[in-house]
Amino acid sequence: PAGEAPAVVMPDEYPTDHTQIQSPGRTPYFVDNQFKDSKATSWIDLHDPATNNLVTRVPQSTDDELKAAVESAKKAFPTWRATSLLHRQQIMFKFVALIRQHWDRLAANITLEQGKTLADAKGDVLRGLQVAETACGITTQLTGEVLEVAKDMETRSYKEPLGVVAAICPFNFPAMIPLWSIPIATVTGNTLILKPSERDPGAAMILAELARDSGFPDGVINVVHGSAKTVDFIIDEPAIKAISFVGSNKAGEYIFTRGSAQGKRVQANLGAKNHAAVVPDCNKNHALNAIAGAAFGAAGQRCMALSALVMIGETKDWLPEIAERAKQLNVNGGFEKGADLGPLISPQAKERIESIITSAEEEGATILLDGRGYKPEKYPNGNWIGPTVIANVKPHMRCYTEEIFGPVLVCINVPTIEDAIALINANEYGNGVAIFTRSGSTATRFQKDIEAGQVGINVPIPVPLPMFSFTGNKKSVAGGGANTFYGKAGIGFYTQTKTVTSLWRSEDVLATKASVEMPT
Ligand code: NAD
Repeated sequence: PAGEAPAVVMPDEYPTDHTQIQSPGRTPYFVDNQFKDSKATSWIDLHDPATNNLVTRVPQSTDDELKAAVESAKKAFPTWRATSLLHRQQIMFKFVALIRQHWDRLAANITLEQGKTLADAKGDVLRGLQVAETACGITTQLTGEVLEVAKDMETRSYKEPLGVVAAICPFNFPAMIPLWSIPIATVTGNTLILKPSERDPGAAMILAELARDSGFPDGVINVVHGSAKTVDFIIDEPAIKAISFVGSNKAGEYIFTRGSAQGKRVQANLGAKNHAAVVPDCNKNHALNAIAGAAFGAAGQRCMALSALVMIGETKDWLPEIAERAKQLNVNGGFEKGADLGPLISPQAKERIESIITSAEEEGATILLDGRGYKPEKYPNGNWIGPTVIANVKPHMRCYTEEIFGPVLVCINVPTIEDAIALINANEYGNGVAIFTRSGSTATRFQKDIEAGQVGINVPIPVPLPMFSFTGNKKSVAGGGANTFYGKAGIGFYTQTKTVTSLWRSEDVLATKASVEMPT
């Protein structure tokens, strides 16, 4: 019940480590540039994943609050779209500067609510900040095209904003993924309704505060909360023209199908099973370090985590060394010095992942390194699983067919690079992939034949910088990935192209009969 939590806590009072949570408060929502206490009757408890102490209570926004956010965004749109591009750019410069200034505070909130280590949380903020920094170049990115079709006729194109748009975010990158949408949606002239993950909305709330302080006018950015009910509201609200979604296949396929059926634009980045192919000629040390880092970093809770290892030929003998490197990683509370990976987001996630490890054992795989039952001394109540390496995996096993989203590396041995490519392409996901080799021709062949959206050659997590776009493939993106985040494609998603063809005759028209043929 709402009454139990003492008070709403504003983002500038958010705790920045485990010990500061004396009396958990309530997370506000953000409409008209104001943080407001929700009148919700239903609240979602947010626990610190390292301790399972209550951090805050997140409202399931009421219908009135959701409608107020839409009204605010609708009201703001005509003025905001008419604002000069240079003015929007100035606000973006300020926003970038404030994110940099509040980098540590954002990162601390991520560590507290999401669990990842402080260093990793800083990377979460930075990768989002880079999208905002790139958006500052909107004055060159939004130019259209002009063609002089004939001596007195020309066609030009404009990219116009859509209106009110929405973004629905997952728990695993509480700053980066809101920042895939906030800068691009707004700098192109749209107004935005953001729904952060109900499991860690704190960073999005701090970003809202920084957006307000950067000079975004009232209503350009609004933040609402909740889970499926809020999502359904966003899908069904006619004023919302486009939805950006990042998260699981279950939610994303539903949102894509139902949103598209309502005539909305939907971009949806979904789940993954990212493979690393290890060729015997690779730089072994680099490959082993890169794989252990990308499999277990962020406790495997990255959509680009390298979670499936394809050992080609004799590299299968390197598995004990990978397990050894994994074992050296320090699993601890995210604020602790030297921590390499933190806890899982929830007790349910921990249980699900443990059950997948158990299923692998039952299906005949070998648990080379078992992270079940691990607990750092200082945090006995957190959602811990240590790095886990599963060898002798076969493609039909549950640990291979499901996205695990935990610190678990599943390893498959194949004889040749051809077999590796065939195996990876047979997987229904196609987010990212990496190959480790010293051979240019092997890498080139792999790069051409592989069906993943993002390919790393000796690079473990090849998420492109924001001048490019995030480019998942197959089941990792809804709708075949026609719409995608940031870069040129991201600007295309948030704008409607208008072409204008004009004729300015210099001489008088003498004909007195209309021409009815299709103009050529
Ligand atoms: P999730 O799907 O559970 O939640 C994402 C969002 O959808 C949240 O805001 C949540 O409130 C909402 N939601 C959840 N269930 C819903 C339902 N039944 N109906 C409507 N809305 C619902 O995802 P998550 O657990 O927060 O994030 C992890 C997933 O996100 C993983 O599958 C991961 O691979 C994926 N992910 C993908 C990318 C990418 O770019 N491909 C990036 C990050 C995360």
